[in-house]
Amino acid sequence: MQDDVIKLGEIDFKVVKKGNSDRRYIWLHGDEQTARMALESHMKLNLGTAFFIQGETREIDFFDGILDPNRIFSSMGAEANIQKYNRSWSSLKKQEALEWINRERDAFLESIFPKNGGLLVALHNNFKGYNVNREIQKSDSVSIKKDQNPRDFFICTDRTDFEALVRSPFNVVLQEKLPQKDDGSLSWAAMRNGVRYVNIEVRLGWLTQQKKMLNYLEKNLE
Ligand SMILES: [Zn+2]
Repeated sequence: MQDDVIKLGEIDFKVVKKGNSDRRYIWLHGDEQTARMALESHMKLNLGTAFFIQGETREIDFFDGILDPNRIFSSMGAEANIQKYNRSWSSLKKQEALEWINRERDAFLESIFPKNGGLLVALHNNFKGYNVNREIQKSDSVSIKKDQNPRDFFICTDRTDFEALVRSPFNVVLQEKLPQKDDGSLSWAAMRNGVRYVNIEVRLGWLTQQKKMLNYLEKNLE
């Protein structure tokens, strides 16, 4: 195993690489500690490359302001994100910050995306309120399981992956078309680049559930 660091500007990600598998994993929100633990535990037993954001808060430091690291993967999303979190900045500073992210983004995506049709898995946790029902309208197909908590679900972007996940015990939605308004989240960047993407979204604190969902992916998706 080798540990390394890659950077998106001043945002650092620890890289854990095992073997030559094309599978990629990413943990993006520092306050979602259950997801980090699930991924760390998974990487002890499985092959692939995992990227862990460094920090323990949802927003990361950015110049002398902050940003949500899952809203920077499109220019439109990054612009809205800079505006939302750093209202006191001058418009020149906002413009410079945006140009800076726009310059760095493609190289970063290139280094985290799998190359040969491989799968990118993102792990997130939710705190309250957010659940699969909020995704149904944005989705092309859905499979909601009666005995599953609506706050635990997969979001995937590839129909073949969806069909495999429909057969799982878990909730799953398929989002295979780009939205009109790209909010800058990693899922849309993956889709634009033809990368298969699955988000494993689980209630904060439900580590066993997130591990089970991750294991299901490992065993059932190519
Ligand atoms: Zn998150």
